[in-house]
Amino acid sequence: MKPFESTWMDDDLRMLREAVSRFVETEMLPHEARWRAQHRVDRETWQSAGQAGFLLMDVPVEYGGGGGDFRHEAVLYEETARRGISGFGQGVHSIAAHYVLNYGTEQQKRRWLPRMASGELIGAIAMTEPGAGSDLKGIRTKAVRDGDHYVINGSKIFITNGAIATILMLVVRTDASDRSRGLSILMVETGDLPGYRVGRVLDKMGLTAQDTAELFFEDVRVPVGSLLGGEEGKGMHQLMGDLPYERLTIALGGVAAMEGAVAETVRYVKERKAFGQAIGEFQNTRFKLAEVTTVTRVARTFVDRCIEQLVAGTLDTETAAMAKWWVTDMQQQVIDECLQLHGGYGYMNEYLVCRMFADSRVQRIYGGTNEIMKELISRAL
Ligand SMILES: Cc1cc2nc3c(=O)[nH]c(=O)nc-3n(C[C@H](O)[C@H](O)[C@H](O)COP(=O)(O)OP(=O)(O)OC[C@H]3O[C@@H](n4cnc5c(N)ncnc54)[C@H](O)[C@@H]3O)c2cc1C
Repeated sequence: MKPFESTWMDDDLRMLREAVSRFVETEMLPHEARWRAQHRVDRETWQSAGQAGFLLMDVPVEYGGGGGDFRHEAVLYEETARRGISGFGQGVHSIAAHYVLNYGTEQQKRRWLPRMASGELIGAIAMTEPGAGSDLKGIRTKAVRDGDHYVINGSKIFITNGAIATILMLVVRTDASDRSRGLSILMVETGDLPGYRVGRVLDKMGLTAQDTAELFFEDVRVPVGSLLGGEEGKGMHQLMGDLPYERLTIALGGVAAMEGAVAETVRYVKERKAFGQAIGEFQNTRFKLAEVTTVTRVARTFVDRCIEQLVAGTLDTETAAMAKWWVTDMQQQVIDECLQLHGGYGYMNEYLVCRMFADSRVQRIYGGTNEIMKELISRAL
C-alpha cells in the first residue's frame, strides 16, 4: 500500500520527524522497560529533550520555545505513541505551558516558559480531587490570600507527572460562595516548598511508566505572583478556553497508537505460522487487518483536519470533543483486534500490543470522560 502522509507535513517537518525519531530510539526506547519498573521517567530525559529543542516546540522563541506550531508538537506525540512510549508526559507539560502562554502576564511568561522549554521545570496539571473529577466545580482545595501570599490547603489525585513535576498548574478555590467563578489557577513551583507533599505513585492497569500521583498541600505558602493572569476567579474561564488543545493531544496520541499497533500486527502475522501457513494468510486475518486499517485511516483524516484547524485557530470545543471520544473509542477497539491476532503473545507485557492495549483504556477516561465529551457536543445541537 502507498505510504500515508498527513496533509500538514512539509520538508521542514520531515527533517524534524527524523531527528525526533532518532531521539526516541536512542534516548527513550532503551530505557522504557526500566521506566515501567520504576514507575517514572528519568528527569535527565526531560533535560535531554529540552536540550534537543523538543519541548514546547509551539511556543514563541522569545519565551524559549521552538517558534513552531502544533504540527511540530504533533511529530513528538506521534513518534512516542507509535512506539508505545507512554510514560513521558509531554502532553500535560505542553498544556500547562499553554495556560501560561495564553493567560499569564508578561512577567509570568518570561519567568516560567524558558525553564519549561529547557526541561529544567517539568509541568503537571493538578485539577482532579477525590471529590471532583468530571464535576470540576466541586474543587475544594482552597487558596486564601494572606498579605503577599496565598495559603493553600487540600489535595489532588490522579496527577500525571505528579511525582517528578516541579511546576504545577494548580486549580484552587479562592471563593467558597461561587461554585464556578470561585476557581483560580496558581502556577506553583514545588522545589523545597514547605507543606507540599507527593503521596502515593498510583498502581495502575496501564501507563505503568507514568508517575500518576496524589498531591497534598498543608498550609503551603506561595507568592501572589503565582496567580495565573493576576486576577482571581478566572480559573473556569481559562480552563474552558484551552480544552480543545488538550483534547486534540489525546486524540492524536490515540490515532498514532492505532497506527503503531496496526503496523506491528501486520509484521507479526506475516511471521507467525499456524496450520502450515502464516496467520496473515487466513481470510479472517486479512479482513480484520483491512477493517482496522480503514478505521485508523478515517481517524487519522479527522485528526489531521483538527490539527489544521488548531493551527489556523478555528478548532472549536465540540469538534475537539468529537475527536477525543470517537478516536479513543476506536483506539481501544482497533488495538483489541490487533491483540487478538497476536494470540497468547498479545497478552504478554513484553509485546508492544499488550502494553498498548492496557495503556489505551484510560484514554476514554481522562481529559474529560467520553461521556462528558458527548454532553458537550449534545449541548451545542
Ligand atoms: C491515568 C490517569 C491520569 C490522569 N491525569 C490527570 C492529570 O494529569 N490531571 C488531572 O487533573 N486529572 C487527571 N486525571 C483525572 C481524570 O481527568 C478524571 O479521572 C476524569 O476527569 C473523571 O473524573 P472521575 O475519575 O472523578 O470520575 P467521575 O466524575 O466520578 O465519573 C464516573 C463516571 O460517571 C460519568 N459521569 C460523570 N458525570 C457525568 C455526566 N454529567 N453525564 C454522564 N456521565 C457522567 C463519567 O463519565 C464516568 O463514567 C487522570 C486520571 C487517570 C486515570
